[in-house]
Amino acid sequence: MRTWKAILTAALLASMSAAAQQAAGSQPSAQPPAPDATQTAQPSQQPAPATDQQAQPAQPATTPAAQPAAAQAAPLAQPAPAPAPTTMDQVVNLFIEREHGLIKVLSTRTPVVETYLQNLTADPQLGPVPSGDHYFLGRMDMGETVDRKDYLKEQDTSMQARLMGGFAKLYKVQYQPLGFSWMVYADRTDFDREHYDFRYARREFLGDVRCLVFDVTPKPKSGRGRFLGRIWVEDQGFNIVRLNGTYYPAPRNSYFFHMDSWRLNLIPGYWVPSFIYSEEGDFSAGVKNKMAFKAQTRIWGYDLKKGGKDDELTQIRVDSVTDESPTAQDASPLQAERVWQQQAEDNVVERLTNAGLLAPEGDVDRILQTVVNNLEVTNNIDLPRPVRTRVLLTSPLETFSVGNTIVISRGLVDVLPDEASLAAVLSHELAHIVLGHNLGSKFAFNDRMLFNDDSTYQNLGFKHIPEEEQAADKKAVELLKNSPYAQKLDNVGLFLKALQLRAGSLSALLTTHLGNPLAENGTVNRLTALATQGPALDNSKLDQIAALPLGGRVKVNPWDDKAEMVKTAPVAITSARDKMPFEVTPFFPRLARYGTGVAAPVAAPTTAAANSGSGN
Ligand SMILES: [Zn+2]
Repeated sequence: MRTWKAILTAALLASMSAAAQQAAGSQPSAQPPAPDATQTAQPSQQPAPATDQQAQPAQPATTPAAQPAAAQAAPLAQPAPAPAPTTMDQVVNLFIEREHGLIKVLSTRTPVVETYLQNLTADPQLGPVPSGDHYFLGRMDMGETVDRKDYLKEQDTSMQARLMGGFAKLYKVQYQPLGFSWMVYADRTDFDREHYDFRYARREFLGDVRCLVFDVTPKPKSGRGRFLGRIWVEDQGFNIVRLNGTYYPAPRNSYFFHMDSWRLNLIPGYWVPSFIYSEEGDFSAGVKNKMAFKAQTRIWGYDLKKGGKDDELTQIRVDSVTDESPTAQDASPLQAERVWQQQAEDNVVERLTNAGLLAPEGDVDRILQTVVNNLEVTNNIDLPRPVRTRVLLTSPLETFSVGNTIVISRGLVDVLPDEASLAAVLSHELAHIVLGHNLGSKFAFNDRMLFNDDSTYQNLGFKHIPEEEQAADKKAVELLKNSPYAQKLDNVGLFLKALQLRAGSLSALLTTHLGNPLAENGTVNRLTALATQGPALDNSKLDQIAALPLGGRVKVNPWDDKAEMVKTAPVAITSARDKMPFEVTPFFPRLARYGTGVAAPVAAPTTAAANSGSGN
């Protein structure tokens, strides 16, 4: 039954070959010269006090919007097609109007927002390398004031203050999570001709989309924290598809990040904020850096239900599923135990999906499942229930399993250099399943599923005791040695070495929230038996790719959370600096119009076999 899937392995991850480095696209740098490169303004004229955004029903009379009910009922109604503009002035009017339309359409949404930041230090050989990192995850309320509610308990909550930018003081760097997501809009309240000058620059293609490019400068005395930079406007609906710049002028002792903000045409008629890249610092000779970092902000889960009290009714579901068990008899004790575990597994998977943390089942799972199948078949593992896989949508590197479902984070899939390394991290979880280390059964009680999304991490957890971790590692190595990946364990060793090299400086990336960490206190503790395998790590060897940058493999649709493999053409690595293991890079999504940019599903194993590119 399973054998047909057996050894079609290698090619599956055609895009998983080490060459699939991210295209370090040429970042258009046509930014107007800011008076001071690092100092920019704070979007401050939000007089709104930090309103408590908790569970605010959508209809209170405070909303000035004329028909909130209509806006809610049909938020995705397409805008009426605009008459074709004949002058640049008309174009400006159109995109201002479209921007206000977008703000209104998204005002009922509370997407998930994740920011991952790496502090940088200069390395003589590798250039700027990470010296530390920070991680923020929350839900962003896109209503009256853009606000975020965070999933992580320990993170700085002072972002509730209205400081939008990054640094509170020059030498004591404090990152405000909200600062990174501020550039979802150019200006939430005053994006108009009274506050801004718009100057047409040129035409330019972004991906498949032809754009008109405008430089945007705040008018004198229009207030602090105005957008200063450049916008790209697509030439059919005249929606802004990209913003690049910062805010100006900055209040005393505050700074605004430079940001590059991208939108995707995920619903008809609207381009939805999806990725924001931020970067500060200057590594040219003579510059004394007080701060340098790069950060990726990802937004997804736009189509999620609003978390909070007003959502309680949606958690009561009536299932009309009929009993499909093959016999009419009562379950035996062992059967009952298995059904119970399945119930717990289903509960957890559903709850994590509803919280916007797990991608719905999709293309990436097909790849993961094939790798798991390869391990199972070659080890004669026959489990009573099939092993399933799912992708956790977050960046920190982690895996865990609940029941027979193996979960792996998007960030981890991104950085793994090849299929053998993927098999290695999956084998550890498969080993837990084979050894019966089942943790999740308490989640078969449904009351344990009733919590707000932003307390997911306090309510769910799948960490094993050290003895089970060691037993799983031992079993995993056994499984790998019997598998088609046995000849490629050198690559796994290299990955573990690269991870060890960076483990001390990337503690946020290695802090897991649901499963056991791959490394603790700067030391890798996963699959240590394989860590000495393979050649020594050597940065000067350009063909030795031990780990990839973040963001190179898995692409998430920010509207429906579906994950798919990225298709990027391999870019030749020309220096050690091109490798960027575990690093944050700018975003350069290939823009496409709604309905035209739907990527073909990942190649089926049989067709991909021809151009197997895995292994190095
Ligand atoms: Zn484990």
